[in-house]
Amino acid sequence: MAEHFRDDSVAAVAVRIDAEHPHGAVFDPHQPQLRITDLGAIRGDGIFETMFAVNGTPRKLDAHLARLRRSAAILDIGVPPAESWEAAVGLGLEEYRARGGVPEELAIKLVATRGVENEPASEDPAFAGTYWLMLTPVAESIRANRGKPLAVTLLDRGYDSTAAERAPWLVLGAKTLSYAVNMAALRHAEAGGFDDVIFTTSDGQVLEGPTSTVLIARAGGEGEPPTLITPVLETGILPGTTQGAIFTAAERAGWKLGYGPLTPEDLRAADHVWLLSSVRLAAPVNRIDEHELAVDPELTAQLNSFLDQDLPVNHPTD
Ligand code: PLP
Repeated sequence: MAEHFRDDSVAAVAVRIDAEHPHGAVFDPHQPQLRITDLGAIRGDGIFETMFAVNGTPRKLDAHLARLRRSAAILDIGVPPAESWEAAVGLGLEEYRARGGVPEELAIKLVATRGVENEPASEDPAFAGTYWLMLTPVAESIRANRGKPLAVTLLDRGYDSTAAERAPWLVLGAKTLSYAVNMAALRHAEAGGFDDVIFTTSDGQVLEGPTSTVLIARAGGEGEPPTLITPVLETGILPGTTQGAIFTAAERAGWKLGYGPLTPEDLRAADHVWLLSSVRLAAPVNRIDEHELAVDPELTAQLNSFLDQDLPVNHPTD
């Protein structure tokens, strides 16, 4: 198939999943594929995951597939079984091998939409929507900026800390395709000279970044490891797989772990703060609005070496 692709498409590999191809079929991402009536495109009515693969091995595959299934359940969207996604990821990697080699670092995006209204793609609910994967080499700019401290601004997300429980139709906690708000917040931050955002609730709790989980460290006593703390999930934030993998490894190493509620004051009083995500890994924060924070490159390296272990993900609700 590779010879049909445009030269510049060597970078990206796309695989779709449908009832006829439950283990995936490679397609050309430069050719039209999606119907313009797909609810994923016109209403953002779908879900996704972004995984990180190093040397052809996806990290935290089970945790990403579990979160995809959780998001699907929250939105009541049918999704193919884990074995379909796993086979499709394998097919994507195979395609790279056929083209001459798997890039050292890949971002693998899994997408599931509700499909076209009143026209299910299959009678089987697990294949009724639209499903695809996109594998792309991690951008050089992301790789080069790893470890570079971030200046972050706190932005009000516009709902309070009880919204997730009071208003389930907000589908908080699902990783939906509706990221326009998150991207607008990032543009707002960038216009103000910041690199990233930490959202807060209207009643003053720390939530998450537009594409990341917040982690703070409080220093331990002399010779003691630090305590790692992340916000509680009850506010409707995404259960971060990066945070979960760090917690598993840190617990095994004897570190203390904690779950918020965290306030902006807790962030300012922390010894260190990071934004965590699968592809950017642990990114240290050195400024929250006007407040300067110390960074500790060794501790950041330690968190990233925890991620290299690729251990199962630990969340309080698991
Ligand atoms: N929170 C949000 C809103 C995200 O979009 C992401 C990832 O993109 C995360 C948290 C971090 O999740 P993970 O560590 O599983 O990549």
